[in-house]
Amino acid sequence: MADILTPIQRHSCMSRIRGKDTKPEIRVRKGLHRRGFRFRLQDRRLPGRPDITLPKYGVAIMVNGCFWHGHKGCRYATKPRTNPEFWETKIERNRHRDEVTTAHLEALGWTVITVWECELRGKAAAEARIEALAEDIRKAGEMKLQQKRTRHISRTAAKKEREEMLQRQARLEEEIKRRFPIPLKIKTLSHDDN
Ligand SMILES: [Zn+2]
Repeated sequence: MADILTPIQRHSCMSRIRGKDTKPEIRVRKGLHRRGFRFRLQDRRLPGRPDITLPKYGVAIMVNGCFWHGHKGCRYATKPRTNPEFWETKIERNRHRDEVTTAHLEALGWTVITVWECELRGKAAAEARIEALAEDIRKAGEMKLQQKRTRHISRTAAKKEREEMLQRQARLEEEIKRRFPIPLKIKTLSHDDN
């Protein structure tokens, strides 16, 4: 495979790794904004500082360059001819970091969606990709809402069950008191019998 990048190109590419405001990222941001989504950029409080997060929907989006993030089977993820081992190690490390970040975010309840640079090449393709992304975001949002409702229902159910149990206990105690009244003699003798 051909080494398609000149050293200068590679340098500018390198300086942009996990950087802000890359062209593909801006494209995604504009597309989402146009569709009415509101989001956060590179939230430092989250593992791996995801490019775009939509807290309302519980979605984190990574916009990945194919070369730097080692997009598997992608024609744009070419291996440089010079120093192939060096690049391979570097890219492998990036890919590993992406996997770890994804696992962390998912453990925190985020839905992680990766958008690849190559999917945004050409206006029509980019539009289609962003439309599909918007659909996935909405779906994730619905799922989040559903989970929230389920949690709420189970909390409410648990509370109700506990209340019913206490009521049953109180009724039982009443019943026992009624059926087995404490003789007046004992009642006056024991003061802590309440
Ligand atoms: Zn790609």
